[in-house]
Amino acid sequence: MKIIMLGAPGAGKGTQADKICAKYNIPHISTGDIFRANIKNNTELGQKAKSYMDKGLLVPDELVVDLVVDRVKADDCKNGYVLDGFPRTIPQAEALDKALEASGDKVDYAINVEVPDENIISRMSGRRACIACGATYHIVHIPTKVEGICDKCGAELVLRDDDKPETVKKRLDVYHEQTQPLIDYYTKKGVLNEVDGTKDMEEVFGAIVKILGA
Ligand code: ADP
Ligand code: ADP
Ligand code: ZN
Repeated sequence: MKIIMLGAPGAGKGTQADKICAKYNIPHISTGDIFRANIKNNTELGQKAKSYMDKGLLVPDELVVDLVVDRVKADDCKNGYVLDGFPRTIPQAEALDKALEASGDKVDYAINVEVPDENIISRMSGRRACIACGATYHIVHIPTKVEGICDKCGAELVLRDDDKPETVKKRLDVYHEQTQPLIDYYTKKGVLNEVDGTKDMEEVFGAIVKILGA
């Protein structure tokens, strides 16, 4: 089962990807998490990516495509995976399709988590992220058991640098311009499914499980 999560920044892609991966026991591949881990470890890739991420811009395709294409060839991906935050541009989607075709594979489901722009800014200002394990929470909607501490791994939570309202506005513009066209792309491929991301977390997950048919 090869699944792609689509949706605006803050729509809930990561939250739902985590739940899908736990239920179906497949890996969660988040390009944002990969970049943040590289930034934390101060790698060359991290330094390059950070200069774009801080501005709310996409990291150039050439820095992300090979990384994902290699990752999905790993052993743990043979029963499927959830891609969260990739592809984000048409060239990324084409590169993924080409790589999958080469091994007789294809994307099975593209799930678009639909949330209007008006809801996004407040979601993002309440988001708290665990840089250690990638989990995300919301101070009002999805609180942790202990304030500021990750339920899953015990590390301290942070407000991401790029979740400030000015940067979120820029990221939304970038989303509409560069990523939203993927909805058409995957509709034409016959694999697009929409869920209403304004519903509560469990309700959204219920709709996704129905789509995945299990
Ligand atoms: P969100 O969870 O808000 O959608 P992500 O964690 O997926 O954000 O991504 C954070 C940032 O990392 C993006 O704003 C972008 O700069 C960069 N990034 C992540 N994935 C990609 C990608 N596939 N292509 C280009 N840039 C990416
Ligand atoms: P994305 O990966 O699309 O950027 P996240 O999964 O990180 O989005 O979710 C963005 C923020 O919204 C987080 O603070 C998360 O806890 C919260 N959130 C996720 N799903 C819901 C939901 N259904 N209702 C309310 N808040 C949610
Ligand atoms: Zn954690």
